[in-house]
Amino acid sequence: MEEHQIPVLRILGSSPSRVVFFRFIKKLLKLPKRTNSERMKLALGIPDLCTYLISRLIKLKIKYENVFHEELNIYNNVIEKTIGNIKGDILYNSLKNIGNNFEYNIHEDFRRRLNKRIYTWYIDGDFLLLRFMCHRGAFREDINKKCLLCEKEDNGIEHVINNCNKLKKERNDLITELNKLDANTKNKTLLKVIEYYYYSKKLSNSKDGKKKDNKGIKLIKTFIKNMYYLYGKIKGKKR
Ligand SMILES: [Zn+2]
Repeated sequence: MEEHQIPVLRILGSSPSRVVFFRFIKKLLKLPKRTNSERMKLALGIPDLCTYLISRLIKLKIKYENVFHEELNIYNNVIEKTIGNIKGDILYNSLKNIGNNFEYNIHEDFRRRLNKRIYTWYIDGDFLLLRFMCHRGAFREDINKKCLLCEKEDNGIEHVINNCNKLKKERNDLITELNKLDANTKNKTLLKVIEYYYYSKKLSNSKDGKKKDNKGIKLIKTFIKNMYYLYGKIKGKKR
């Protein structure tokens, strides 16, 4: 039997094309070239293009088989060659593996929450949240040794989000509000809470759960937006 090839998968399977593609995505999202690609892929919920396309193909295959009540075998070869015998949600498994490297606990609802709760309609807080999840802007210790806000501690993300005195009120207000919305956020640092909200929270479909989730995301986006604006103001003054 003739082997069915999917050219786009063959092209995307080669690593130079993937590098170029993710460089292009960074440009499109106005993220600096040196942004960690793994972190960016995770924040976007696209672990790898090949995996992403194969997962789409599997879904379409299942849809076709359900609608027409016949097996669609022509793509079996290419699916097997690309992912082997891996079963289950390959996209989720891939994201989970990347998440492990950063010590994030990726919930199986993560991709659905990205679309339904986190990036729902465009506001400028979206771009800043993505930038933040990629650890970009404001936290470069190689550029600014000291925190630009307090000028006392090292300029790391943990210090700025969890400890910086200049954000004390905003941080405490946000933690209090988030604790009221979701008990899982209690006894965690703010950075851990934001990571939990982004990657590890379950998608609740109840009216109340949806309302609380949306409110939490909105509060986090506002906090991050204000933090970046504060940085921008200080940087502007120094020029
Ligand atoms: Zn500081």
